[in-house]
Amino acid sequence: MIDTNLMSEALETHIALQTDDTGKDISAPCLRLLSEQMRTWPELKEGYETLKGVRVREISCGGYSVRIHYNPGRIKSTLADVRDSAINGRPCFLCPANLPEAQKGILYRKGYMILCNPRPVFHSHFTIAHIDHRPQAIADNIDTFLQLTADFGPGWAVLYNGPQCGASAPDHLHFQAIPSGQMPVEKVVAGRERSAVVAGADNIHLSRLRGVGREIVVLTGDDPAAVGDVFKRFQDALQKVLCIGEEPMMNVAGFYREGVWRLIVFPRAKHRPDAFFREGDGRIVVSPAVVEMGGVIVTPMERDFERLDTEMVEAIYREVSLDAVTVDNAVSISGL
Ligand SMILES: [Zn+2]
Repeated sequence: MIDTNLMSEALETHIALQTDDTGKDISAPCLRLLSEQMRTWPELKEGYETLKGVRVREISCGGYSVRIHYNPGRIKSTLADVRDSAINGRPCFLCPANLPEAQKGILYRKGYMILCNPRPVFHSHFTIAHIDHRPQAIADNIDTFLQLTADFGPGWAVLYNGPQCGASAPDHLHFQAIPSGQMPVEKVVAGRERSAVVAGADNIHLSRLRGVGREIVVLTGDDPAAVGDVFKRFQDALQKVLCIGEEPMMNVAGFYREGVWRLIVFPRAKHRPDAFFREGDGRIVVSPAVVEMGGVIVTPMERDFERLDTEMVEAIYREVSLDAVTVDNAVSISGL
């Protein structure tokens, strides 16, 4: 039973279900929540209807390929103003007090709400938001992230967008979950990981993928605490190399299968390419977050869907990804 003393009234009205203390096998209740919400929340149904009309085009970039999605339903997210001035002036859409009345969720391990994303990129798309309004940050929450990957299980990917490189709510801690197998990078990692190991500690392997147009670091191991520690060491090293105090820009995709955790990390140099801010014909409406770095490039504009080509994709990746030398330096000073 819900302890009403501990739970805010606002949160309580949005809880459809809560997991037990273990939170294991969360995907089945999530899919039930999705079908229930499709019947009771018209905005969600509309979002998924839009998804049916998404057009997809594959582009080969020599050594890797990407999928371009034309998804007009994503226009709000793609154009989201994430500057402090805009964020501070709006009611946070992940806070329980501001959720639409019809939006319900699953209380996960007493600290997070699993919610259906009303502007989905994939056929099942969830947001896992902390029940309190607190900043988006990965290092302090990597244990939860790894726990979520195991609780969702092998058919799923859990995603993180850094506050300055893709999170549409940089002020409210949240992750996402999507079915696995949707991002082309997953196949690339599965095929090349073994040959790309460059460092390791505590039975954790750190691999670098080459020839994929952007920097990709993969951490693999069978002990989530050790995977989390190595992740934090790598993040600390990036911070040192970049001479910054805040979280280095990065996107992370996490997977769990047969006792093994895998983190695919995309270190970033900037959020949006310069072309995003151009005016007129030169503007390209692509706002790279974890899904884009994973090889699914979403644009809400038909013009960009039709004209994006190998050269443009390569240029976008080159611009928003951190460079190889900086990542090399981080790996070498991380002590891994
Ligand atoms: Zn909030």
